[in-house]
Amino acid sequence: MPHTNNSKPATTNHQAGQLFVPPSDYPRIVVIGGGFAGMALAKQLRRQPVQVVLLDRNNFHQFQPLLYQVATSGLDPESIVFPFRKQFQGYPNLFFRMADVQEVQPAQKRVITDRGALSYDYLVLATGTKTNFFGMQTIESNGLCLKTIQDALDIRHRMLANLETAIETTAPDKRRSLMTFVVVGGGPAGVEMAGSIAEFKRYILAKDYPELDPDMMQVFLIEASGRILSAMSEEATQKGMRHLHQLGVNVLLNEAVTDYDGETVTMKSGRAIRTHNFIWSAGVTGQLPKGISPDQVVRGNRLRVNPFLQVEGMPDVFAIGDIAGLSSEAFPRGLPQVAQVAIQQGRYLGKVLPQIIRGETIAKKFVYKDKGALATVGKKRAIADIGKWKFSGYLAWLIWSVVHLMSISGFRNKVLVGLSWLFSYFSYEKSNRLIIYDPCAYQSDFSSHQAARPRRKDA
Ligand SMILES: Cc1cc2nc3c(=O)[nH]c(=O)nc-3n(C[C@H](O)[C@H](O)[C@H](O)COP(=O)(O)OP(=O)(O)OC[C@H]3O[C@@H](n4cnc5c(N)ncnc54)[C@H](O)[C@@H]3O)c2cc1C
Repeated sequence: MPHTNNSKPATTNHQAGQLFVPPSDYPRIVVIGGGFAGMALAKQLRRQPVQVVLLDRNNFHQFQPLLYQVATSGLDPESIVFPFRKQFQGYPNLFFRMADVQEVQPAQKRVITDRGALSYDYLVLATGTKTNFFGMQTIESNGLCLKTIQDALDIRHRMLANLETAIETTAPDKRRSLMTFVVVGGGPAGVEMAGSIAEFKRYILAKDYPELDPDMMQVFLIEASGRILSAMSEEATQKGMRHLHQLGVNVLLNEAVTDYDGETVTMKSGRAIRTHNFIWSAGVTGQLPKGISPDQVVRGNRLRVNPFLQVEGMPDVFAIGDIAGLSSEAFPRGLPQVAQVAIQQGRYLGKVLPQIIRGETIAKKFVYKDKGALATVGKKRAIADIGKWKFSGYLAWLIWSVVHLMSISGFRNKVLVGLSWLFSYFSYEKSNRLIIYDPCAYQSDFSSHQAARPRRKDA
């Protein structure tokens, strides 16, 4: 039975230092983060006698599973992001505020944002994760990562700008380095990224850059453990390896990357690879605002929650999605950080929170229904672990495509992504090969290789 709270609804005056939200007679639920979890929760709370305030540092929801396609010019960014204000048209009890939450003050029942303070009756943390560089500063400052739409565009720009530079580079070593791509991390995101870059080499390079020798372009996927896709079955790992091999990706197993200085990737074994294109996809860590006691934080910087998704020791505070640290018999090290867990937790909390507010006893704990795992390796090839069915190839890719199309927010986005896929299915084309920002900022050479856009420490 979760703890209950019968405190009076929060009221807000539009004062200096306050984030303005109209006063309401209903209890106020502040939700931090409009990812899969926060969105599912906000939708479920529609028409409930509560005031929902959704805070996100962006004014859009992003569909992270397809970021790699934006990074490799397969999709345009607008087709995988969706504005919150459009999503929540017709939600009279929901107020969106674009604000970065910097601190949670549970004793005062308020959050501090870059736009002012906001009081709450109930708080839901749905802040997801950020890239984990494991404290390796040089990798963080010199490498690229794939967590946000901005990251995906950085990769696209860097990749295209470096190929432009390679054309004008006569020194073979430097040219090879500009055309070498290193992806670190053999999870689904790294495998998909490496496969997609390899397809770029196979189908685009010779047509767009006839002056470049395709054999010079190399794609490496480096994994510290002994297998890729380790969260999936052994069959999935084998099939993933085979597909990557067919695409020409060099997979290095049992190689831990220790440094990247902007020119050279160094591994623990002493091995080194020269590259101007380094993508770190080797882990994530929970993204928490200040004000949370370390006692509440568990493995992976996640929040310890009870089976009602209530943060242990904080009766009015809940956590859902990647940030929630809940384990089960099947997942003793914590539920997987995937969209399905986030969506199911958002929906569950949307049902039980109004009951908790009414002081009712909640009998049903949250139980994750595992619908299986999918990963794609290039076009027309995917790997599926669905219950006892483990298969790969075209059918798995079709299922992957349908599942992703159905999950993308908004009819327009579904159509845009569906049409892009249909077009590239028949033409093997990728149509978004544009360097939109200042091209000079994205060119890296041996004397100047700083990242063009300073990465936010918290994104
Ligand atoms: C490259 C990549 C590929 C992936 N592929 C798959 C896949 O194929 N299948 C799958 O199931 N899962 C995949 N995942 C994982 C999946 O995207 C996550 O599990 C899911 O997004 C978690 O949802 P969430 O709502 O918990 O967090 P998120 O979706 O990360 O959302 C968190 C939100 O909180 C906001 N936020 C964070 N901190 C603050 C703050 N302080 N103030 C204001 N706003 C804040 C962020 O802006 C963001 O909108 C992938 C992830 C990545 C990065």
